[in-house]
Amino acid sequence: MKNLTTDDIMRIRRDFPILDRKIYDRQLIYLDNTATTETPRQVVEAVDSMYYTHKANVHRGVHTLSQEATSMMESTRSVVAEFINAPSTEQIIFTRGTTEAINLVAASYGLLLEPGDEIILSAMEHHSDIVPWQLIAEKRGLVIKVIPLTDNDELDMDAYRSLLSPRTKIVAVTHVSNVLGTINPVKEIIDCAHRAGAVTIVDGAQAIAHLNVDVQALDADFYVFSSHKMYGPCGVGVLYGKRQLLEEMPPYQGGGEMIKTVSFEKTVYADLPFKFEAGTPDFVGIAAFNSAISYIKSIGIESIAAHEDELLRYTTPALLDIPGVRIFGNAPHKSAIISFLIGDAHHYDTGMLLDKLGIAVRTGHHCAQPLMHILGITGTVRASFGVYNTIAECDAFIAAVRRVAAMLS
Ligand code: PLP
Repeated sequence: MKNLTTDDIMRIRRDFPILDRKIYDRQLIYLDNTATTETPRQVVEAVDSMYYTHKANVHRGVHTLSQEATSMMESTRSVVAEFINAPSTEQIIFTRGTTEAINLVAASYGLLLEPGDEIILSAMEHHSDIVPWQLIAEKRGLVIKVIPLTDNDELDMDAYRSLLSPRTKIVAVTHVSNVLGTINPVKEIIDCAHRAGAVTIVDGAQAIAHLNVDVQALDADFYVFSSHKMYGPCGVGVLYGKRQLLEEMPPYQGGGEMIKTVSFEKTVYADLPFKFEAGTPDFVGIAAFNSAISYIKSIGIESIAAHEDELLRYTTPALLDIPGVRIFGNAPHKSAIISFLIGDAHHYDTGMLLDKLGIAVRTGHHCAQPLMHILGITGTVRASFGVYNTIAECDAFIAAVRRVAAMLS
């Protein structure tokens, strides 16, 4: 693994023109990477090139443009499969994002479940990994159970083990919490679930651009993520699934692309992965997603993780040094996400004042209302780092929080 130097980061920053923006006459400091990462030139140019040079609908055309567009889309599928070490491209389903991928599994695999079957979620799930399960639970009479947290903001693994039963059919957990930053022991969670005969789905939205993900080493049954959180285009996501499970599952949506033959009497569905890809996909975004993965690979995921970890370790104690600052998410093994509050100040006020200083952070419940309820708060201010953030930006952020704290106290 190569340690990223200041020169490396400066070179990387030049790929992101948005970072040159001024907000209220100040240099933008973008610390909202958990919500979405910014997009490098290479990815934007790939989108441009698709529109200017190759655009034609995929999979159905014999003409050259259509074949080019198809092969660019399918080449991304191979690159994604290799990136997460999936055994085959047929097990990579393109979706609109993490949310759609979870909805797909819940709506389709959920139909194979029986009333009284149980789904285990965790207390730190994003709404995307709660509501789809509630929808199918209501339809099929399923029971939802929730893994609580320890005082360390980690999943309570003893409680998890005691929730598992022969009725547990699905365990759905996030790899990394988008609020607490906690990196969950997903391999152990998966192994326990398998021993109980349950299938697992890992929400990798906050892990995929920050950790090395190997779906075979994890033995994950399903693993999902979004391109826009990994320097890629919006509107593209991935569902990885084990072949046997995907084959057993009924289609999620019907339409073009997902069929072999259609008559009014009977439709024969396409093979994997197309069975789950009804309609024209966002082939432009998918083609450009390839460039985002190349971009990450050219830097190295471990180098990115080490750099972000340095920013986290630098910023956390300095923030805690500011009177009144409380950080939510104190797990020893955590990703570069800092959720905090200043005394009793409302998170919106803090976020708005930071914005006036050119600093983009996210405020609110972060689509994790049940977790907010457990923490006894309505929301937090969340700063999260990406590969292009610098120690100088951390210094500016810390000084800005200090200033805001003085104003609000
Ligand atoms: N899961 C987690 C942990 C997230 O952080 C997010 C987005 O912030 C999602 C799911 C939803 O991702 P998307 O909106 O790309 O579908």
